Amino acid sequence: MNIILLGPPGAGKGTQAERLAKSHRMIQLSTGDMLRVEAASESELGKQANEIMESGDLMPDDIVVQIVAEQLCRDECEFGFTLDGFPRTETQARALDGIMREKGLKLHGVIEMKVDDDVLTERITGRFSCAKCGTGYHDKNNRPKVNGVCDECGSTEFKRRADDNEETVRQRLAAYHAVTEQILPFYKEKSILRSVDGMAPIDQVTKQIEDVIESLQ
Ligand code: AMP
Repeated sequence: MNIILLGPPGAGKGTQAERLAKSHRMIQLSTGDMLRVEAASESELGKQANEIMESGDLMPDDIVVQIVAEQLCRDECEFGFTLDGFPRTETQARALDGIMREKGLKLHGVIEMKVDDDVLTERITGRFSCAKCGTGYHDKNNRPKVNGVCDECGSTEFKRRADDNEETVRQRLAAYHAVTEQILPFYKEKSILRSVDGMAPIDQVTKQIEDVIESLQ
C-alpha cells in the first residue's frame, strides 16, 4: 500500500507515518526529515535547506523531487510507503505521478488530515523531542512522565526544531494554504482522496487512517 499523508504542518503526519511503519511495514518517506539530515551535513544544499526551512518557505521543486525519486528506488519500498510532507506543490504531484509510472508503482490513496490553524500553532510551538531516540513530546499535553527524562530511553537531552517558532509557523501555514492545499483537487479527480479528522485524539486518528487503508485495498 502506497499512500500520501497530506495536511498542514503539525497535523500529525509524522506521528501517523511512524505508526504505519510499525503496523504495516510501510516505509516513512518524510522530505522534511531528509532535508534536516542534509542541513546538518553543512553541504551547499544543506545550507540552502537551512535558510529556507527557517523562513518557512518551500524548497525548490526540482531538489525535493530528485530526493524523493532516489528514495523510491529503495528495495524496502516494495512493502509500501507513506509519503509525509511530499508532494507540496502541483508540480511535485505531477512529477510524483511520472516517477511512480516509470517505476511501475501505484499510488493507492491520499489521506488529508484536517486540523484548524489555531490548534496547529499551539501544537507546533509546544513540541519537542528526545535528542537521542526522537520520541516526541509536548509542553502542555504530552510531557515525559518524569520531568526532564525521556520515557523511552532515559535520556535527559531534548531538542526543538528551529522552524517550530511562531513566526516561521505563520509562514509555513500560509504556504500550506496558498500552495499545498491547491493540489487536493488533483487527487480528488483521480478519486483517491480521503479525509480524516486530525483534531481527534491520536489513537482515533490512527483508527480513521486504518479504516481508510482498509477501504482502499
Ligand atoms: P516538514 O518537516 O514536513 O514540516 O518540513 C519542514 C520544511 O522543509 C518545510 O517548511 C519546507 O521548508 C521544507 N520542505 C519539506 N518538504 C518539502 C517539499 N515537499 N517541498 C518543498 N519544501 C519542503
